[in-house]
Amino acid sequence: MRATLSVAIATLLSVAVLGGSVDAAQRETRIPDQAIATAAQLRETALASDLAYRITESLTTEVGPRLAGSEADARAVAWAVAKFKELGFDKVWTEPVTFPKWERRSESARVVGANAQPLHLTALGGSPAGTVEAEVVRFADLAALEAAAPGSLTGKIAFIDYRMERARDGAGYGPGSRVRSRGPSAAIRAGASAFLMRSAGTDSHRNPHTGITRFDEGLTPIPSAALSVPDADQLTRLLSRGPTKVRVSLDCGWDGTYTSQNVIGEIRGSRKPNEVVVIGGHLDSWDLGTGAIDDGAGVGLTMAAGKLIGQLKQRPARTIRVVAFANEEQGLHGGKAYAAKYAGEVAKHQLAAESDFGAGRIYAYSSSAPDYAKTADAQIAQALAPLGIEYAPGEGGPGPDIGPIAQKGAAWARLAQDGTDYFDLHHTPDDTFDKIDPQALAQNVAAYAVFAYLAASAEGDFGSRPSATPTKTE
Ligand code: ZN
Ligand code: ZN
Repeated sequence: MRATLSVAIATLLSVAVLGGSVDAAQRETRIPDQAIATAAQLRETALASDLAYRITESLTTEVGPRLAGSEADARAVAWAVAKFKELGFDKVWTEPVTFPKWERRSESARVVGANAQPLHLTALGGSPAGTVEAEVVRFADLAALEAAAPGSLTGKIAFIDYRMERARDGAGYGPGSRVRSRGPSAAIRAGASAFLMRSAGTDSHRNPHTGITRFDEGLTPIPSAALSVPDADQLTRLLSRGPTKVRVSLDCGWDGTYTSQNVIGEIRGSRKPNEVVVIGGHLDSWDLGTGAIDDGAGVGLTMAAGKLIGQLKQRPARTIRVVAFANEEQGLHGGKAYAAKYAGEVAKHQLAAESDFGAGRIYAYSSSAPDYAKTADAQIAQALAPLGIEYAPGEGGPGPDIGPIAQKGAAWARLAQDGTDYFDLHHTPDDTFDKIDPQALAQNVAAYAVFAYLAASAEGDFGSRPSATPTKTE
């Protein structure tokens, strides 16, 4: 397995070199042999370490759920500052991130009439409060609701019964989350008084999946919520028997603004400390679980990777910057604030990667490296191969909070996690610490440590340039 992967990558390496696509004016980026050797040791140290597991346990146990703008948001920031310091990071600081604050207070629903019974649902982030009792009209998918005539749902509750598909790379979440982000506005246009959806999830538990929604300009928001998968099934069966009335009662809504913080820790580089490799996760979570896989694990594993690099005898040339981003969940607020603050320093960003897809094993690596950095990119892939990670050049895009700085021209990398089970737990009460596999988490730490160390040690860059026009990213 190991030998086969090495051969495959050696082939890719020679293709990258012999391909002749390296810009003659631009020196080829390469990683020194000494750094490759150090990375191999780092990989073994990380695989044997339970540091990320302990950090994630600390965050999810001591802070618990961390809804952006809640009382726990401030405790999470204090936790991250203290943890970076405890881990011996050279520099630890915070940067303000201001956003509108949304609160969930209570939520319930029940079928009324001859088949009266409770339904399990949760408000979508951004939903207003309200109690609506009305007949439900079912739509198979978003397109069907978007095709409904204006006024055709007056006095009704719109219900999208779209079932999200399971996939290793999370491909089903695009259409699943579009129901959540665009369904409510479509329902309002058709005249509905409330919006319900089958949760964007792949489980069969009676746990609804929350997540942010938004309402288009000029529309008056309506109460919007997600039913658990079995409750969506139940409602569909009732609707097949005849007209069904549901009473939805949500107490939630926007309440002023809140200022949280991006929390940043740095392991200082030896020769080019002003250039940075950025890794991180997001510190906030939804409120239903304890935010273990989304995204306590991302914070824990990137903090651990930084710490393991920091304790090497030979520091990399560039600085490792670990960022615990504020409020990703409600609109990438931390990532946008970071990009705004560092807009003038795009070229100092060697490479950036965020872990925000659970705690499953990493199976593929890719980056935005231009032709002149393809050799170094393949060297990173070769060092990741013993972890069971394949090189997938040209695939994927940056993690959510890296998106805004990547739009400004920063080079990004993707360490793709196996998300087969991610949407069983994502944004539900079941997103808890016990769901994390310590071995898989250690594999993630090894991958991030190797990747960050090698990127920070490279002779040459990976193509970060301020972009005049925003580049398209996922
Ligand atoms: Zn996340
Ligand atoms: Zn999330």
